[in-house]
Amino acid sequence: MKDTALRIAGFKDSIFGVISRLARENNAVNLGQGFPDFDGPDWLKDIAYKKMQEGHNQYAPFSGTPYLRQEVSNYYKKFYGLNYNPESEITITVGATEAIYLVINALINPGDEVIVLEPFYDSYVASIKMAGGIPVPVTMHAPDFTIDQKELEAAVSPRTKLLILNNPHNPTGKVWTKEELTAVSLVAIKNDLYLLSDEVYEFLVFDGLKHLPTAALEGMMERTITISSAGKTFGLTGWKIGWICANQKISNACRLVHQYVTFAVSTPMQEAVAEGLKQLPSYLPGFVTLYKNKRDYFYQELRSLGFEFSIPKGTYFMMVPISKHTNLNDVDYSMKLIQENKVATVPPSAFYLKSTEGEKYLRFCFAKKDETLKQAAINLNSL
Ligand code: PMP
Ligand code: GLN
Repeated sequence: MKDTALRIAGFKDSIFGVISRLARENNAVNLGQGFPDFDGPDWLKDIAYKKMQEGHNQYAPFSGTPYLRQEVSNYYKKFYGLNYNPESEITITVGATEAIYLVINALINPGDEVIVLEPFYDSYVASIKMAGGIPVPVTMHAPDFTIDQKELEAAVSPRTKLLILNNPHNPTGKVWTKEELTAVSLVAIKNDLYLLSDEVYEFLVFDGLKHLPTAALEGMMERTITISSAGKTFGLTGWKIGWICANQKISNACRLVHQYVTFAVSTPMQEAVAEGLKQLPSYLPGFVTLYKNKRDYFYQELRSLGFEFSIPKGTYFMMVPISKHTNLNDVDYSMKLIQENKVATVPPSAFYLKSTEGEKYLRFCFAKKDETLKQAAINLNSL
């Protein structure tokens, strides 16, 4: 038989799937893959059922249902003062993962370079490679995961077209400061780059911080493509409803790709998410408190086990340094924890192309029931 396509040569099973499988096989508590092990809100599930009963069951318009696009537009206006035209500047996708694929394939020609800040969410590099682009990594240096401005500027070449930024940041839990975001944005402006801002954890920020979209920075609205997803905000990662907010030219290009990848997204789930977005002001305080309590509890547990690190300000991940506990690298130590302590975590070296800094950390996901977190802490106690 002939070979499969070159564009996927070197692709492996994603680290999330691998760790979830190993967790099952070893009967380990799974703090690896990022998803809640508890259900999303009943009121929103009831609305989804109602939407099906009401007959929202045929193909949606390919750009998304008018109701959801309007509600996405409304919340960007209400929370951030940003104006996106629901007709021409908002596109609904199958989760943020499809959004990433569309943006990259809409913008990148073979040979174009894309700057990715590592550690990165794994689908960025895969989508860049499928488009024939070249990922150019710039490392966010531990322990605060900061960018060295000189390294960022040196990574730009005449072939650079796009820079990808994730805020709040998976896997580190970092929430970028306005100064840091501005420094990266200035590089984009100076070099006429597009900036893809992955903001799927926009509502998971703690300690009184408020999310700042990159598009809200001076001079960034036109060149920023913002993506987000309902999966994290409503704790319903399996619903896979995401969106792209971008100017009309980029939105049109993304829609051209979208119509041949998925064409349209599940109609009743879009209609339900629209209702969910309407309820954000009353829903969010309880949602943030729920995750903050989980973060605080598990952080204390890890600290009492001797792990030393700063508490994450956003997302539902902790990037935990392991060197005080082991000489093993992240992959070997995570295997040991799965097999011997029965706790599964993600080895972050999978999120790096250049630096080996990830080998000294493990990523823990705390979006888990209290009893799951408690059990993990008990299992880790024998470290
Ligand atoms: N971006 C980041 C940073 C993520 O962590 C994830 C997945 N958890 C996604 C994008 C993909 O989101 P979705 O599940 O909506 O496709
Ligand atoms: N984004 C989730 C994580 O970081 C996993 C999503 C996936 O499995 N593709 O764990």
